[in-house]
Amino acid sequence: TAMGSNSLMWFRKGLRIHDNPALLHAAKDSTHLYPVFVIDPHFMAPDPAAFSPGSSKAGLNRIQFLLESLADLDSSLNGLGSRLLVFEGDPAEVIVRLLKEWNIEKLCFESDTEPYSQLRDGRVKDSASKSGIEVFSPVTHTLFDPADVIQKNGGKPPLSYQSFIKLVGQPPMPVELNLTRLPVIGTLGDCGVLSVPKIDELGYGDIKQEGFSPFRGGESEELKRLMKSLDDKEWVANFEKPKGDPSAFLKPATTVLSPYLKFGCLSSRYFYWCLQDVYGKVKRHTSPPVSLVGQLLWRDFFYTVAFGTPNFDRMEGNRICKQIPWKDDDKLLVAWREARTGYPWIDAIMVQLKSWGWMHHLARHSLACFLTRGDLFVHWEKGRDVFERLLIDSDWAINNGNWLWLSCSSFFYQYNRIYSPSSFGKKYDPNGNFVRHFLPILKDIPKEFIYEPWTAPLSVQRKAKCIIGKDYPKPVVAHDLASKECRRKMGEAYAVNRSTAGAKTSAEGVLQS
Ligand code: FAD
Repeated sequence: TAMGSNSLMWFRKGLRIHDNPALLHAAKDSTHLYPVFVIDPHFMAPDPAAFSPGSSKAGLNRIQFLLESLADLDSSLNGLGSRLLVFEGDPAEVIVRLLKEWNIEKLCFESDTEPYSQLRDGRVKDSASKSGIEVFSPVTHTLFDPADVIQKNGGKPPLSYQSFIKLVGQPPMPVELNLTRLPVIGTLGDCGVLSVPKIDELGYGDIKQEGFSPFRGGESEELKRLMKSLDDKEWVANFEKPKGDPSAFLKPATTVLSPYLKFGCLSSRYFYWCLQDVYGKVKRHTSPPVSLVGQLLWRDFFYTVAFGTPNFDRMEGNRICKQIPWKDDDKLLVAWREARTGYPWIDAIMVQLKSWGWMHHLARHSLACFLTRGDLFVHWEKGRDVFERLLIDSDWAINNGNWLWLSCSSFFYQYNRIYSPSSFGKKYDPNGNFVRHFLPILKDIPKEFIYEPWTAPLSVQRKAKCIIGKDYPKPVVAHDLASKECRRKMGEAYAVNRSTAGAKTSAEGVLQS
């Protein structure tokens, strides 16, 4: 294969054929194209000590979703006369080795702004450049390039949605793959290539423990799902995020495209322009921040702030995060994580997270507020870790950004506004259908007690075959008292933050004068 030019397309996120500039560039003028995915032990190595089956970073639902996305990508590549070459190991090492082994002259991959990816990709870029290999790494995971937005804002990320919106215009249009066949794969040599594995080949043990999510991975599934949403033009045009029903589970109130956006089975730009197309066909439509386009802009907002904020995923050393003396209480954390808080609304959402890997945005609000500033006063980083493992759409920038938000550590500061763990759900679902579905032990509790089952008379509990304190836990805290205490502690912490911030400013003033 000495003649002609060889290129390597390294898939990580961006698991799609549509709107894939890196793939297009890899195919252009190449004799051979090697499409590669590397299974990274950092994300995938089994961790028997984790609180549920999977790796330390990911639960089985997300791993399964990834494998389905890879299988789908492989089959699309087959349709284009190619295939997905799967490897296992430290991705930087594997890629550098393959560049040599296959005489690669052009390496293409989608840019990724997460700290872990930046380090990994930096190593590969350095090594490739030293060998004179062309590296093409376009920003196509987000609508805009976070670095551009930060530069436009004078070197700092915009810290409010409104200021973000003012900086960005329209994102680039998606690109089309104008090929019916990709360049063929060249000689492979003795390189250890695998095919896309099945989940039971990866060593996670008894995988039946966790119910699998109803959402299937892959670009083909995503396109079906997207088209279904877009077909209902009125729904798209009238979409208002805060008005959605978090308890709707048979037909969720939002698109459930987040897992596909996370892995890049769906291009956010393609989605954006599809929405603009629908808006063009209707009389009127909603606008950001509440519209569907507005949701995509939230995504880009968090990507931009996350990219431009050192230690974004921590309280300490994070300049946009209030320093709050959260409790280190493992008992409360475990009660929350194991869906044993005794508040059916909270526990049912946790069960949905564990079994589906997805919940409505306002349901996520409820869980996050309850764990942190609302009731338990547990550190947001602990809750973030649980979401990070269990969500299929688990996304470094968006997850951390929203935990900062919900814990009133950044972006949002009205700590007096606390969700009630019983009346918030009741407003949407007075009969408690959501609770009954995800917590079947409560299914025969009459509706007047379904959100506060400990208030049901013992005779009622007996009849419903659910004794509170035995079959289902009593509340871990009394919401009235706990939330009052939380407000007090938040008030104190904010006062300390104000005075230390003030002290810093005056010290700077002294230095300057
Ligand atoms: P839709 O309402 O249909 O929105 C379309 C797309 O817009 C979403 O797929 C998502 O990519 C984006 N989007 C929507 N809401 C937000 C938001 N608030 N911030 C940023 N982008 C948004 N979303 C993730 O994708 N990954 C996460 O790890 C994640 N963690 C969260 C943690 C907490 C504590 C909270 C409160 C929210 C979190 N979200 C996260 C944001 C949001 O809840 C989900 O994006 C949304 O519920 C996904 O469902 P959907 O695709 O049906 O959303």
